[in-house]
Amino acid sequence: MADASLTALYQDIILDHYRRPRNKGTLEHASISVPMRNPLCGDEITLELEMNGDEVADVRFTGRGCSISQASTSMMTEMVKGKHASEIGQIGERFRAMVMGDADAAADSTLGRARALAGVARFPARVKCALLAWNALERGLATAASQRGETDGEEG
Ligand code: ZN
Repeated sequence: MADASLTALYQDIILDHYRRPRNKGTLEHASISVPMRNPLCGDEITLELEMNGDEVADVRFTGRGCSISQASTSMMTEMVKGKHASEIGQIGERFRAMVMGDADAAADSTLGRARALAGVARFPARVKCALLAWNALERGLATAASQRGETDGEEG
């Protein structure tokens, strides 16, 4: 596929998530609520997680900001629902590497349609927009782990 049409496809995916965000709203039984802002761009989201042990049973977000921040959050919620914290940590690491310009991560099929955001790597000012959701998620999962009385790298 020519580079230009690939870029157009990626822009379509981003705009689709921006205009029709998935999992937007609030949860009735949220375990965790994480507000997160990107003052450089004016993006803000509040991420809500319903945890079942270390599994994200459900997730919602509210927020406003640029198309990158809101589309990235929408995509993230689709990717993490029903997954365990350890798996989410790996996906988040890959996503983070991708928006920092890692070509291997950009080709990683586990990132699915979120690969549409790979082009953000060429615009350093937008990297924070793309990572806003993942930073909120990381903080939320850390809070959930400490609520369960877990410490890093230890089981039970
Ligand atoms: Zn932004």
